[in-house]
Amino acid sequence: MRRPLPNDLAAFWMPFTANRQFKKAPRLLASAQDMHYYTDDGRAILDGTAGLWCVNAGHGRPKIVEAVQKQVAELDYAPAFQMSHPKAFEFASRLAQISPEGLDHVFFTNSGSESVETALKIALAYQRVKGQGSRTRLIGRERGYHGVNFGGISVGGIVSNRKMFGTLLSGVDHIRHTHDPARNAFTKGEPEYGVEFAEDLERIIALHDASTIAAVIVEPVAGSTGVLIPPKGYLKRLREICDKHGILLIFDEVITGFGRLGAPFAADYFGVVPDIMITAKGVTNGVVPMGAVFVKSDIHDAFMTGPEHLIEFFHGYTYSAHPLACAAGLATLDTYADEGLLTRGAELASYWEQALHSLKGTKHVVDIRNIGLVGAIELESIAGEPTKRAFSVFLECFERGLLIRTTGDIIALSPPLIVSKVQIDQIVGTIGDVLKAAA
Ligand code: PMP
Repeated sequence: MRRPLPNDLAAFWMPFTANRQFKKAPRLLASAQDMHYYTDDGRAILDGTAGLWCVNAGHGRPKIVEAVQKQVAELDYAPAFQMSHPKAFEFASRLAQISPEGLDHVFFTNSGSESVETALKIALAYQRVKGQGSRTRLIGRERGYHGVNFGGISVGGIVSNRKMFGTLLSGVDHIRHTHDPARNAFTKGEPEYGVEFAEDLERIIALHDASTIAAVIVEPVAGSTGVLIPPKGYLKRLREICDKHGILLIFDEVITGFGRLGAPFAADYFGVVPDIMITAKGVTNGVVPMGAVFVKSDIHDAFMTGPEHLIEFFHGYTYSAHPLACAAGLATLDTYADEGLLTRGAELASYWEQALHSLKGTKHVVDIRNIGLVGAIELESIAGEPTKRAFSVFLECFERGLLIRTTGDIIALSPPLIVSKVQIDQIVGTIGDVLKAAA
């Protein structure tokens, strides 16, 4: 058998990719700066998705580049257990200064998926530490995406992420999602109808009994399943129901964190503070893999009892608080602060909204949704071939120099927060042209 050649495409089994199709016509990005990628054959591609919703400050930002270069030369790695390095503490403190009220402690991971597992484990362990060991159930939501590890796909609500992988975690249930196009199609911002979907949590609680439930996990705005924006009052109601029954509320802010909605976090935007907040992506501007789980002080402090020589929480990763990630993260926070990026989405939101909604009436467009600097254009499915229409729009946009993301028949957009109005017009204009040509 022949060994692969250095330039073979076969050896790399690509994640979440139609490998066979991709390898017939690969799309390779060679460099990036600010709002653009550049392909290996030199074409500029406008980044309509901040990479994978992570490069919030845009690409190749000088402070971040310099910080990582300096860090790798100074301290490349430090053991994460029973040992650390100063930037880990500095970064955690800086994060706690900008986090929603009360979320003052940070546990570092290396990705969104790891942050999800960490948050679920903190919730379960906290209930035990508090003498409530019967609270072992976790409640997720249909159409929720919480990464790809076993806890995350168990509480997640995407069938294709679950069906190949056995029985998953036991003791998990799901509340229904809030997407209701019949009542809310083409809503600008938060949908008017659907606060009553929160009452589904009461139904699940009644079914299992509150004394068996540790935590509820939701994305404030579901991203990967198509930018599903919560109806007005919905998250507040979830918070009330959790409080009433002594259940922890976890927000997965992997996408919504770090300025995506025009506020530092979705918790700030909606005025609803969870007990545990999951982040990743924008925490380092996507430059070095990292995740950060924020917890309220009473959760953190509950672990800090008992004999001091015992490890309080038996969990962690070799690369938790990796020096390169902390250096990148500190420079990222500086960049966000210098340029006001964590609130820039609020300034651009109405321009973004108008631009996106100008596509209403374009053939095959059945819904348009937006909030902050994120949005979705939902297309009518081709019978028997869901995903085909949106994916062909993705391919054609890429040909025309624009990166978008599709999930099913939904085009999802989340440009870097440095995007200009001209570039917003360019994103929407290109998509409009492609849709019209396809029609
Ligand atoms: N949670 C949410 C809400 C996400 O959007 C994602 C990734 N898109 C994840 C978790 C998983 O993050 P990662 O891919 O870094 O593991």
